[in-house]
Amino acid sequence: MSDTIEGGCLCGNIRFKTTEKPSYQLLCYCTDCQTISGAANFAAYGVPIETISIIKGEPKIFEVTADSGRTNSRRFCPDCGSRVWAQIDELGLASVNAFALDNRSHFKPASNHCPESAPAWCEINETLEFFPRIPREPIS
Ligand SMILES: [Zn+2]
Ligand SMILES: [Zn+2]
Repeated sequence: MSDTIEGGCLCGNIRFKTTEKPSYQLLCYCTDCQTISGAANFAAYGVPIETISIIKGEPKIFEVTADSGRTNSRRFCPDCGSRVWAQIDELGLASVNAFALDNRSHFKPASNHCPESAPAWCEINETLEFFPRIPREPIS
């Protein structure tokens, strides 16, 4: 299909596809994202869960209760450890690792999420919107 894009993990054992029309694109500075990514933020390419399908492999799932109280099931490659996406079933949304996409130019962050958790040395891009919560409605 023409409106799908593909991505995968570093070793190539996990491959997936999703939509080229994201619901949201944001930089998440929450402490969970920092711990898992080893960086000041996580580049989240947000899509409806039903738009993601596995082409190859099976990600390992780690479930954690997010600050919002919702269960966030984070998926990663069991072989190379790369994050592929995290999903919140309650919202029907998944935050794909934008840098797991084959074509990284699809990621154009529009907002900052949890910027209050950013480390002091980190420069926040003030030109982006601030979202205290993951938006529920798709961005048109
Ligand atoms: Zn891998
Ligand atoms: Zn986060």
